[in-house]
Amino acid sequence: MITVYNVLMKSHPKNERTLVIIKPDGIQRTLIGEIIQRYERLGLKLVGMKLVRPTKELVEKHYTNDPEWIRKTGAKFIAHATEHKLNIKHPDPVKMGEHILHRLSKYMTAGPVIAMVWQGLHVVPVVRKITGGTEPLRSDVGTIRGDFVLDSYEFSDIQDRSIRNLVHASGSVEEADKEIALWFKKDELIDYTLVQEKILYDMNLDGIFE
Ligand code: ADP
Repeated sequence: MITVYNVLMKSHPKNERTLVIIKPDGIQRTLIGEIIQRYERLGLKLVGMKLVRPTKELVEKHYTNDPEWIRKTGAKFIAHATEHKLNIKHPDPVKMGEHILHRLSKYMTAGPVIAMVWQGLHVVPVVRKITGGTEPLRSDVGTIRGDFVLDSYEFSDIQDRSIRNLVHASGSVEEADKEIALWFKKDELIDYTLVQEKILYDMNLDGIFE
């Protein structure tokens, strides 16, 4: 039976969810445990996880869920390349974005990936923060992309390939909802309680002293 309590609990901020994918290089570098630990130790809850062999169609659908992604990603790179005096293959943001998507689909289908859904308070921005910026050369120290991998736009561009940055993490709550629905069936996600939720989210910490 769905009660008002259930409805309220579903919309509780601790129930925010995000999609994380350990990309093919993360698996090949044997960093699965290390990466999961980074999210787990924050206090986040893993509510879904599977090893997947992604198709080109799935990858393209994933990145074009936001119809502006191609243009925005192309424009982001052109701005960066202009500032750092890098080679620009396509001066048109849409053409550049399409080229980035083509590289990405080769990268993401090169080997198995792990798709995960993490849940917790502010999970979308917190996971982005821990994951780090897109380009490992400039990702902050202490982030996954800053600590575990070497790559740059300059080098990936010479090799005409995607930036290898180990992990994907949803950029907004709306993006996360769409991405989770794309990668997971409803019954692959499990609602359960972690005992540590009491210390993370309860208003009163009664009952600790004996
Ligand atoms: P993020 O993964 O940090 O959210 P984007 O959504 O902008 O970044 O891009 C998706 C992925 O595409 C990146 O993680 C990276 O692997 C790859 N990528 C983005 N821009 C470029 C580029 N200019 N050259 C090569 N690969 C890129």
